[in-house]
Amino acid sequence: MSFVEIVVLAGGIGGARFLTGLKDVTRGSRITAVVNTGDDVTLHGMRICPDLDTVMYTLGGGIDPERGWGLAGETWRVKEELAAYGAEPTWFGLGDRDLATHLIRTRMLDAGYPLSQVTAALADRWQPGVDLLPMSDQRVETHVVVDDPDTGRPAAIHFQEWWVRHRAELPASGFVQVGVDDARPAPGVVEALARADAVLLAPSNPVVSVGTVLGVPGMRAALLASPGKIVAVSPIVGGGPVRGMADRCLPVVGVEVSAEGVGRHYGARTDGGLLDAWLVAPGDAADVPGVDVRQVPLLMSSPETTAALARAALEAAGV
Ligand code: GDP
Ligand code: CA
Repeated sequence: MSFVEIVVLAGGIGGARFLTGLKDVTRGSRITAVVNTGDDVTLHGMRICPDLDTVMYTLGGGIDPERGWGLAGETWRVKEELAAYGAEPTWFGLGDRDLATHLIRTRMLDAGYPLSQVTAALADRWQPGVDLLPMSDQRVETHVVVDDPDTGRPAAIHFQEWWVRHRAELPASGFVQVGVDDARPAPGVVEALARADAVLLAPSNPVVSVGTVLGVPGMRAALLASPGKIVAVSPIVGGGPVRGMADRCLPVVGVEVSAEGVGRHYGARTDGGLLDAWLVAPGDAADVPGVDVRQVPLLMSSPETTAALARAALEAAGV
């Protein structure tokens, strides 16, 4: 393949896997990953960026492949010690090796460096092989509106508390992007989109990963202004998410849990939406007016199937 520039909007696991395939099939090309930071959280005084770390560790070869997040060969001594002190919260997985990443990030943020520069410094070690960018340098945090069990009144809790502590089982009535009004795309994002030969939406959670990235003011306009085609990959196969609990998020925003539902949610670029093409699994019929819907195998179960999916996305983008 000749040199091309590709921008990928990504969350954590689905985004990271897709990016590995893309790297495989586009050697020598330039890939910019624009990663969700709405999941970011401060715990025990440390700033944690789960999706950025998942992408960085996966592409850099450090990820624990079984878990899909965190580092391989991890131990949990610090977490045990914190729990022994009764230090809350105890429900978030914090590995000993992983802690070094959070400590460096927090120290640099406290010293005044923007998240994009902190991310570049961390990536200097892991060499992910893509330009790894947070969606924004401004802090945007996804909160979930739930009914407070004590008062019965609506209350907002951090996304991680809903997702990890409550396993997304607390009924939710909405998502709020705290801080989004003051956010703008991180340095390099708009520039990469303006140069892109293809813009790919990874098979990441359409609501709390891709949706959060798209919610940054200026992001949608920058995508639509890109000369590249916009192609998205469905994270929903056969009426459910491949992994994780995306099916808990879609109904909250009134979207049907199906490839068609998500495709229509993104909408056609020619009709006020985003997409030029939408990749769904064979057997998942999806009618999305104005969009080139293609059926291709969507399971990223091996390096080969992951590469084939990336190739199909590039083909749909015409590169
Ligand atoms: P998170 O931030 O770690 O939750 O990860 P993402 O938002 O990037 O991805 C979660 C989504 O990835 C889920 O909705 C899954 O359905 C999807 N996903 C995971 N593995 C695969 C796969 O092999 N194929 C496809 N098409 N989607 C996948
Ligand atoms: Ca995430």
